[in-house]
Amino acid sequence: MKISHIEHIGIAVKSLEEAIPYYEKVLGLKCYNVEEVADQKVKTAFFKVGEVKIELLESTDPEGPIGKFIEKKGQGIHHLAFAVDGVDEALTEVEANGVALIDKKARKGAEGLNIGFLHPKSTLGVLTELCCE
Ligand code: ZN
Repeated sequence: MKISHIEHIGIAVKSLEEAIPYYEKVLGLKCYNVEEVADQKVKTAFFKVGEVKIELLESTDPEGPIGKFIEKKGQGIHHLAFAVDGVDEALTEVEANGVALIDKKARKGAEGLNIGFLHPKSTLGVLTELCCE
């Protein structure tokens, strides 16, 4: 597996409506995409910081993964996403190294990316996403 860069940093927020003005007005970043990802029960908003993106995640369902995360830990950094050349191959490789997977196979995430998550119990507490265009 070859990681080329950090693709994005996922940040859980209670409300995009409240969070976007902070990123735009205070930090001077531009929100270029807002998208709902129904199967993950989230609404996302994207900003570019150089090559890296920030993905804000608002839960659309308290029982969804972001809803539960905020309930337990509050708002904040949720996951780190690395760009790889192929998600399925990368998942197979990390699993062979004893890492527990959340996704055995790549699935579609926001922005049409192929994504797969590694389990934080195997990644020193950092929920890790591998993604590829
Ligand atoms: Zn992500």
